[in-house]
Amino acid sequence: MGRSLSAVPDYCTRVARNINIEKLQYNYLFPEISTREVEHMKKYPNAKVIRLGIGDTTEPLPDNVALSMANYARALSTPEGYKGYGFEQGNKELRKAIAETLYKDLAIKDTEVFISDGSQSEISRLQLLLGSNTTIAVQDPSFPAYIDSSVIMGQTGEFDHGSGRYGKIEYMRSSRDQLEQLVQFAQKNGSIIIFDSAYAAFVSDGSPRSIYEIPGARKVAIEVSSFSKMAGFTGVRLGWTVVPDELLYSNGFPVLHDFNRIICTCFNGASNVVQAGGLACLSPEGLKAVLSVVDYYKENAKILAESFTSLGLSVYGGVNAPYVWVHFPGSKSWDIFSEILGKTHIITVPGSGFGPGGEEFIRVTAFGHRDNILEASKRMRSLLS
Ligand SMILES: *Cc1c(COP(=O)(O)O)cnc(C)c1O
Repeated sequence: MGRSLSAVPDYCTRVARNINIEKLQYNYLFPEISTREVEHMKKYPNAKVIRLGIGDTTEPLPDNVALSMANYARALSTPEGYKGYGFEQGNKELRKAIAETLYKDLAIKDTEVFISDGSQSEISRLQLLLGSNTTIAVQDPSFPAYIDSSVIMGQTGEFDHGSGRYGKIEYMRSSRDQLEQLVQFAQKNGSIIIFDSAYAAFVSDGSPRSIYEIPGARKVAIEVSSFSKMAGFTGVRLGWTVVPDELLYSNGFPVLHDFNRIICTCFNGASNVVQAGGLACLSPEGLKAVLSVVDYYKENAKILAESFTSLGLSVYGGVNAPYVWVHFPGSKSWDIFSEILGKTHIITVPGSGFGPGGEEFIRVTAFGHRDNILEASKRMRSLLS
């Protein structure tokens, strides 16, 4: 809030602003997009704006998932059903269900699975785990939380784009080859990979859903994941992190022990009501229902991608992820954003907001009601005609 204060306040505390937060480079991407939307609405008050920007899920939860949370919450009002603090690491049954359902055949133990309140906050806890002296490389383009949380921790140096970058946009598809290269890179350099598998449920071309599908990954990788995109839990809040036993620091100490300590100190476990919902998502019936919602979004992605390819544009993503990236060679992302907004009243995300590698791209989300997606597709098709 308030980059510069216009009026001199009549009282200030003597606490200096955290210098690391002061160093955060630009406005967080999405607030800037909101500002542009507000300006657009002032100019075109009657326009029906379609938001393909931030990428929040839109479809209702499966009934059995919602019901499991409702029943759990209801039972809390009874002497038998009341529960206080749970395990900081999460409900044992849920940890087991994640290990057995989502990591089937990958030999992940339930004790290696930690339940979180979503991956965004977990990313900050991982920063605490690794401390401010660890060099961090991020992929480009990248989810903004990875960069901003690093800066807040006091990572002031240049990000090591040289080693962090694996083929720019292509890396987002995370093909088996690319992930094998990444694991080999980590093995050679003694690095730890933080693998974000938030879109695993969307992977449909045989690419790995987990880093642990790659041989050797257990010794070099932590996996952060979430129910947000898989099960529409963006508002409900639930995720998990896998820290394998074999992942060791340079002195041979297991990372898992320190991560456990961070979880116990900085987090007291995810909401028990929400964990009941997570468990319901992993029942055979629940999984079928959540994956059918994923299929719905994947169909949206296909519709959007086709509208851009029909204009002769190249699109990436949408097959293994709920976002479609569209390439506009020679144009600046924010210019394309403005042009599309001006001509079609559609909000997109400028790719450059995710890093220099996203320049010349815009990103559109496949999360949306079908009628909105069809309308957006229709408007996009008229963009260049
Ligand atoms: C949505 C998203 C997240 C955030 O997930 P939450 O669990 O809702 O905090 C993390 N990583 C990526 C790549 C995402 O798209």
